[in-house]
Amino acid sequence: MRILSGLLLLTASLSAATLHENYSPAKAFAYTQQVVNFGERMPGSAGHRKTEDLIRSVVTKAGGKIETDYFTASTPRGKVEVNNLIGKFNATADPQQKIFILAGHYDTLFRPGFLGANDGGSSTAILLAFADALATSKTKMQIWLVWTDLEEAVKNFDDKDGLYGSRHLAAKLAADHTAARVKGFFLLDMIGDKDLSVARETGSERWLQDFIAQAAKQLGYSQYFFQYEAGIIDDHVPFIQARIPSVDVVDAMYGRMGPTFDSMGEFHHANTDTMAHVSQKSLEIVGRTILLTVELLDR
Ligand SMILES: [Zn+2]
Repeated sequence: MRILSGLLLLTASLSAATLHENYSPAKAFAYTQQVVNFGERMPGSAGHRKTEDLIRSVVTKAGGKIETDYFTASTPRGKVEVNNLIGKFNATADPQQKIFILAGHYDTLFRPGFLGANDGGSSTAILLAFADALATSKTKMQIWLVWTDLEEAVKNFDDKDGLYGSRHLAAKLAADHTAARVKGFFLLDMIGDKDLSVARETGSERWLQDFIAQAAKQLGYSQYFFQYEAGIIDDHVPFIQARIPSVDVVDAMYGRMGPTFDSMGEFHHANTDTMAHVSQKSLEIVGRTILLTVELLDR
């Protein structure tokens, strides 16, 4: 009799698990390793195709609906096929249902030997683990997981080279008025860094960052968030331009900093961006914090 009631309680607590509790950092880390094993993942590569297949299969298995935003971009290397992927969860028939977008890029830099464990890998993987968590979590808002493509510049990052996928998708959401239904947009970038420190990105929406800070505090992770400021041009910028409240959740210091290194650290855009510098703990801190933030915003 006592055992039975214990079992009932266990069942009740399992079904009541919240979104951030259903998230598995171990899965996020394993997905990172899996996509890194695919090799280079710039558009047109075999690794890129394998990553796209993995995203499709994980979203579908988790009960999400895959939608695509495919187009051909004109780049300094000529025409490039760009494939944004969107996994939609908890959509209702209500045409006014609010939408929350969690995004990250899945392409890697056009550089031979560049595996992008953190830059491209961690963002792809954390969203895959979010899909798994959403399989068993209901939210009032519709949640979109957006894997943007061709975030990286083909030659040199400037107004026209880089952010191809996000510019296209944000313009589309503005044009068809979906943007007005989007409560918020979080971009996840380079969040697997073993030495985690998420920037307070200065172009991002402050009130949404405050919600992230509140969630981090609740989980005991405050020290990993917003200890320094940085202004960064990233995939969130086109969404800000589409009037969607957006935050770039980015660790802008990858490895040692200094005049002899890249401005975002020694491992940024270097072939040393490998699994050696990514940790499951960082994926846990960011994943749990971001999903708890979504829960706070879903009330
Ligand atoms: Zn990059």
